[in-house]
Amino acid sequence: MKKKFRVFATCDIGEAIDLLRNRGYEVEVYPQPEAPPKSLIVEKVKSGIDGLITTLRDQIDAEVFRAGKSHLKVVAQIAVGFDNINRADANRYKIPFTHTADVLTEATAEFAFFMLGSLARRMWPAEHLTRENQWGYWHPYLPFLGDEVTGKIVAVIGTGRIGLAFIKKCVGFDLNILCYDPAYENHDYVKTIQEIANLRHARGLSRERAWIKYVSFEEALRHADFVSVHVPLLRAGESKTPTYHLFNEQTLRLMKPTAMLVNTSRGPVVDETALARALRENWIAGAALDVYATEPLPTDSPLRDPAIADRCRLMPHFASAARITRLSTDPNKGMAGRCVQGLIDVLEENYGGDIMKMPYVVNKEAFGK
Ligand code: NAD
Repeated sequence: MKKKFRVFATCDIGEAIDLLRNRGYEVEVYPQPEAPPKSLIVEKVKSGIDGLITTLRDQIDAEVFRAGKSHLKVVAQIAVGFDNINRADANRYKIPFTHTADVLTEATAEFAFFMLGSLARRMWPAEHLTRENQWGYWHPYLPFLGDEVTGKIVAVIGTGRIGLAFIKKCVGFDLNILCYDPAYENHDYVKTIQEIANLRHARGLSRERAWIKYVSFEEALRHADFVSVHVPLLRAGESKTPTYHLFNEQTLRLMKPTAMLVNTSRGPVVDETALARALRENWIAGAALDVYATEPLPTDSPLRDPAIADRCRLMPHFASAARITRLSTDPNKGMAGRCVQGLIDVLEENYGGDIMKMPYVVNKEAFGK
């Protein structure tokens, strides 16, 4: 008789849960919208489940893996980032974990671009002006102006999946692009983007010929009008080029006083105290953030300082929050579909049971020969 798999999901991920139930899985879903306490996750894992579905809100470390060491076969995370999962601990207990890369790439990249546009053109203060009946007249420059995006210089920090997709969005606005990535430079991609920029110029679609190139981190920060961050959160010891507090007092001071920072990667990549100071003291002109060191954003966060509200946009970790991107049960379209497919691959031993061949497993290094 086929084994009935037991799964605990720390969050409701929509119809994808039915997909598992229709295959005969016994699935328990934590019913509250907020994350369950860690003790509950440990208790559920101890109870003998085969699979655990997690979100970035859950701390999955040695305590959880130890609780599942004899029976937990897979942790399936509904996110591309997995900094909440301790990879070394997963490897120690030889438990594979999966993520949902790719299906959220375009949604996240376009949201970062929209944040940039909304920040530069001051859409939030402009709408407030209208709503609060402060719009008393049309005037050439009062009460304030925004900055045009078209033709400016944008620095893309991290040219992985989302960074490259973000570059694509920039082409339509004839932005000049400075790329920085210490581990992965995609020169073919850059060449293609340059060819498109050349064609736009040659056919009269752009006034100036836009350009794109890889540069050092310092050069990117010194010259950019906008900086968009697309790196994973890597703490000291996890990488030769960690990203924890990559944006700090020293690096923020490298940026132009007219420049703006957009962060859709992970909160701890930016030192929030330094950023609040940078905005207050006008080292830079603006910031738009989707992610924070502590989420939801605490009431006493320095980023909530009313003195910087006009130049600091704060989003609720929302960049991948598009309907199909989040919930489609199709593993080629939705995070939910890809999350359960990753889980099914491991539990049902797809790919001949060879974890090395399973596309959504992250920590393959623990399973090589
Ligand atoms: P990816 O792994 O494809 O790309 C990340 C790139 O960053 C890699 O090319 C890597 O070499 C580069 N990198 C590593 N260290 C760096 C450093 N010190 N400086 C510059 N670049 C560095 O990942 P991705 O799919 O593009 O996703 C990037 C991150 O975005 C995820 O890890 C996740 O944390 C975040 N994310 C956030 C949301 C959201 O809703 N806000 C949605 C999706 C992803």
